[in-house]
Amino acid sequence: APTPPPARHLFSDAAEVEALRGNLLAWYDRCKRDLPWRALVSVGGVGASALTPALLPAVWVSEIMLQQTQVATVIDYYNRWMQKWPTLQALAQASLEEVNELWAGLGYYSRGKRLQEAARKVVSELAGRMPRTAEDLQKLLPGVGRYTAGAIASISYGQATGVVDGNVIRVLCRLRCIGADSSSPAVIDRLWDMANVLVDSSRPGDFNQALMELGATVCVPKAPLCGECPVKQHCQAWRRKLFGKPSPVPDVEDCGVGDCPLCPPASEPWDSSLGVTNFPRKAAKKPPRAMRTATCVLERRGCHGAPEYLIVQRPSSGLLAGLWEFPSLPLAQDLQEEKEREELAVHLQAWMGRPVAAKGLQFIGEVIHIFSHIHQTYVVYSLHLDGDVTLDPALSPSRWVAEDEFHASAVSTAMKKV
Ligand code: SF4
Repeated sequence: APTPPPARHLFSDAAEVEALRGNLLAWYDRCKRDLPWRALVSVGGVGASALTPALLPAVWVSEIMLQQTQVATVIDYYNRWMQKWPTLQALAQASLEEVNELWAGLGYYSRGKRLQEAARKVVSELAGRMPRTAEDLQKLLPGVGRYTAGAIASISYGQATGVVDGNVIRVLCRLRCIGADSSSPAVIDRLWDMANVLVDSSRPGDFNQALMELGATVCVPKAPLCGECPVKQHCQAWRRKLFGKPSPVPDVEDCGVGDCPLCPPASEPWDSSLGVTNFPRKAAKKPPRAMRTATCVLERRGCHGAPEYLIVQRPSSGLLAGLWEFPSLPLAQDLQEEKEREELAVHLQAWMGRPVAAKGLQFIGEVIHIFSHIHQTYVVYSLHLDGDVTLDPALSPSRWVAEDEFHASAVSTAMKKV
């Protein structure tokens, strides 16, 4: 059995936990940001049945949108989404095309798709009733992970269950001087235990939001505002910054145990110039993979003489699933320009159903777009077509669009850059 962590890394004093909850909630009541999804918290999903349309839990939509995306960006998308699909039933009836169109520009498109799939499942398999505990939400709904399940269960349905997201990781690691790799499963498990101990059973949703809000507005990554922090008297990192190292012994003095799994590794001890930002620590990320993709803007004159462009739909799974793009072809890394053109011409020929001369492709430039794990370079060509062009219906869906239709379609930010 794993050894329990040293007391320094725990919240084992009930009186301290009580005081921390009180301080944090009082601060939250005074200082919380006015965000649109907070207005709807208390009514999400209530009254659900197969016959009465159930409100879509606001926190579900906002939490999915907020994954990897800033609050300021999300607000507008959130408002449009909730206006269009206020109930689970309305969302279940939407097409993937509509979902992708609304999501366009928000990135990580599979999030929107899975949100809609989950709504369909609630309507078709669960008689329109949202699961109400974190365990059921995670088990029954696609795309709902441990964090989102905890957030929905506590905020919408009042279950006393903790949540751990990036903000909570930072706050807890600082409160308890956890300097081991905060992305490791061992540390993450400890943080979940801690969040479950801390959560206030009378106001679980507010408590969880308060902890996240603290991380988002006070205990921020680079320059935390410790002087204004409502829980600084409970913060080990703050104490350590104020009083320094108590004695000139190795870092094990942190908790008095030689190989503490939660202290900073001996090779990277506390750095006093960093203060509380010694915590959390993360193992170095793998650099993004480099990819090159040739893409061609095919242009023809539409019936009123205005230019139209060919867009084609991506496969329904994988990166940017179901989105529309200019015909594109992933390239080997070290291909010569001439060879790139030839390969693209062959690829286009399949779309056009007629030969395309490689030298007719005009090189326009390169566009770089960074996805979370891919450094993508689009090598952009253009080709003007004369006469009628018949597209092969056997290939994936494709259509000609004018420029304004292109911008209103479900196309990725990367394609808009192209
Ligand atoms: Fe974060 Fe500073 Fe508050 Fe500690 S005192 S929780 S480091 S803001």
